[in-house]
Amino acid sequence: MATVEEQKTVFDMDAANMLNKELRDVFASGKTRSYEWRISQLKSIIKMCDDHEEDIADALRQDLSKPELESIVYELTMLKNSCTLALKELKHWMMPEKAKTSLTTFPSSAEIVSEPLGVVLIISAWNYPFLLSLDPLVGAIAAGNAMVLKPSELAPASSSLMAKLLPEYLDSSSVKVVEGAVSETSALLEQKWDKIFYTGNGRVGRIVMGAAAKHLTPVVLELGGKSPVVVDSDIDMQVATRRIIVGKWGCNNGQACISPDYIITTKDCAEKLVGSLKKELETFYGKNPLESKDLSRIVNSSHFARLTKLLDDDKVSGKIVYGGERDEANLRIAPTILLGVPQNSLIMKEEIFGPLLPIFIVSKIEDSFDMINSGTKPLAAYLFTNNKKLKEQFVMSVSAGGVVINDIALHLAVHSVPFGGVGESGTGSYHGKFSFDAFTHKKAVLYRSFVGDAAVRYPPYTRRKLTL
Ligand code: NAD
Repeated sequence: MATVEEQKTVFDMDAANMLNKELRDVFASGKTRSYEWRISQLKSIIKMCDDHEEDIADALRQDLSKPELESIVYELTMLKNSCTLALKELKHWMMPEKAKTSLTTFPSSAEIVSEPLGVVLIISAWNYPFLLSLDPLVGAIAAGNAMVLKPSELAPASSSLMAKLLPEYLDSSSVKVVEGAVSETSALLEQKWDKIFYTGNGRVGRIVMGAAAKHLTPVVLELGGKSPVVVDSDIDMQVATRRIIVGKWGCNNGQACISPDYIITTKDCAEKLVGSLKKELETFYGKNPLESKDLSRIVNSSHFARLTKLLDDDKVSGKIVYGGERDEANLRIAPTILLGVPQNSLIMKEEIFGPLLPIFIVSKIEDSFDMINSGTKPLAAYLFTNNKKLKEQFVMSVSAGGVVINDIALHLAVHSVPFGGVGESGTGSYHGKFSFDAFTHKKAVLYRSFVGDAAVRYPPYTRRKLTL
């Protein structure tokens, strides 16, 4: 039998329903709509990050052995940058936008009014637990909504720290945190929300979309996929490999949504590429990367088992040209490069989401486009080349959530471009003003007066009226 303490913390359908109603009342009061409320919440997020930088880095160390620099740069600085931009631009974003009218409505004026959607649900993932929870929350706050955040149970230290800190820093009547796993998320998903913003894998993305459909709730699905890197021969190989390494292993040891999933190159380039990767990997992580403090561990034993299964696949195991070491007790897998893996092996059937990097060879670099386009649309696609024509062809013919030429993952840091997937890598987008828009209804407003009341609109309809 559950103890009194346990009974108090059960979050079931009734609790979810009550929470939803409570937030609806708060939203109806108009509190979250004011410019002042939004600004004060955004400032508080920055203050929370500054006051608790060490606690946050410590939680990330517990959940993922995330190196402190990665925590500060990729979780905290990026989050604070989002807040700073929103603080600077919010007045402008909130302003109604003048719109052109047509002859049909003459005389008239029109505008687009940015209206908060209402009460929104944010469900986030474990790999960047602070950023992926709080960055969408910045958008929801900037847009003037009330909200529930459901962080991932797979990063428990981060989840419980957010559950403790958010009520201390933010308006706890309008911003709620619900901790939990499948049953708590399912209870939340039964409720009617005005938007659901989900970050995670596509299997659960389908569950979220199905639940949202019952209430005709719009969704943003920030999913993943197999993000390819195409490497041409005419490049500065050292710079390219350093960028590939930091984008793959330097971002949570490959456990990042826009992490390079596989490389495609030509035969003449492969040897040079592998040599350079090996050399730079050793420079960054030493001769025994399992002991490097600059690499995150694998999040838990089931993800460790999933990744080792990919490595132990008969078609893959003999193809390791670098790495392959693992330490089950400490959930560590070394950066691993594979060459000559058949395309029909297990590793190419799912998103790798870990430190394994297969390299595929094509006869000519343009063949990589077909290889990419024959799979599901990735969240990101990367190309290293100096060839202008190839860059243009890549941008025009490869479909992906985002494309970066000659670097990895950095589009994430450009707030003037949307971040999101296409097809199976997701729907909708955020970052910068796109975050504000993701949680806003663009309301069309037309102003008319009582002049210009054209007879043609009114019955009896006659041909003659059309010629007037
Ligand atoms: P996860 O296991 O933390 O799951 C995500 C959320 O879904 C969690 O809050 C979890 O509680 C909830 N959930 C899990 N099972 C559920 C169920 N049956 N019903 C309802 N809710 C459920 O994270 P994950 O899915 O392992 O995350 C990794 C995936 O997310 C990868 O595919 C990665 O590419 C993708 N991802 C995408 C982005 C992006 O911005 N596009 C960012 C990070 C991760």
